[in-house]
Amino acid sequence: MPNPAGVPTQFTFDNTATFQGFILLHELGHQMGVFGQDTDGATNGANSQAVLDNCFSEDAQGVLH
Ligand SMILES: [Zn+2]
Repeated sequence: MPNPAGVPTQFTFDNTATFQGFILLHELGHQMGVFGQDTDGATNGANSQAVLDNCFSEDAQGVLH
């Protein structure tokens, strides 16, 4: 998925449920009006990064929990 610069980037989640939770929170951000539309990759990436920063932690191996 895009990073906040809009560059396709690989992110690693610890398991499928964690990834699914991330997707739901990103989409909930749209539904609740926290995020506007993802008009480009950079906007999508910034919204995703906001979810990661506020709702997940990254371990020393770069895996998101
Ligand atoms: Zn989005």
